[in-house]
Amino acid sequence: MSTTAQLRTESGDAGTPDAPLLELKEMRVFYGAIEALKGIGLTVGKGEIVALLGGNGAGKTTTLRTVSGMLQPRHGEVLLRGERIDGIKSHELVRFGIGHVPEGRRVFATMTVLENLEMGAYKFSSVDSGDLDRVFTLFPRLAERRSQQAGTLSGGEQQMLAIGRALMGRPELLLLDEPSMGLAPLIVQQIFEIIKEINDQGTTVLLVEQNATQALGLADRGYVLETGSVAMSGPAGELLSDSRIRAAYLGEGAA
Ligand code: ATP
Repeated sequence: MSTTAQLRTESGDAGTPDAPLLELKEMRVFYGAIEALKGIGLTVGKGEIVALLGGNGAGKTTTLRTVSGMLQPRHGEVLLRGERIDGIKSHELVRFGIGHVPEGRRVFATMTVLENLEMGAYKFSSVDSGDLDRVFTLFPRLAERRSQQAGTLSGGEQQMLAIGRALMGRPELLLLDEPSMGLAPLIVQQIFEIIKEINDQGTTVLLVEQNATQALGLADRGYVLETGSVAMSGPAGELLSDSRIRAAYLGEGAA
């Protein structure tokens, strides 16, 4: 794909000026004959946190997998800084500044914390000690446990490790798939605070969550998916006060 050759690997400077960092246009994705995404459109601006909400099977994970190149859209476009990236494989997209923290963390269980983090830096010729320091500052628990096998970490620590591993690739856009899943409320709060800190340090975030209140509390804007389509979108504060959202996702009766 010729247009993608113009993209720089680690910086957001290349691409079309003023284009959103990420834009999905009419994106349709299939699993065999099943149409999981039926023409999704959304944008993520540089520096934003955007929440992607919706119930089970709405298409949130499929959206992230398509952005990170694990799935290819059958129709539509995925643009990074205004340049087409659909068709590029996931291992190559890491070089374009996309980091994906998948659902269920997927840490390398038999490797140590440090080895997992080093794996996250695979696109570089060597591991930068500054990147490691940054991750250990964000997650002091990982620093304490750097020699521990990842499979023996708690669920919250594994989530921290999965995020830390993605940060080792210095992503400009971080895709987070349900970081709160299965974690105690206090740990979820810590993870969300760290996501905010990562964003404050300059990383743009697309956050998939079932936990709508917490996600919208953190996000600038949100999109609500229903059976593969965008049902609602808007500033996080507006979505949070919308009676339909409150009824569908916050367990309250519609006003
Ligand atoms: P959840 O919150 O339950 O993870 P989700 O919003 O992330 O849901 P997806 O996992 O993206 O939803 O699934 C969207 C649709 O695609 C669902 O109908 C699901 O059954 C279907 N689907 C997902 N993965 C596959 C697969 N590997 N093969 C076939 N269908 C799939």
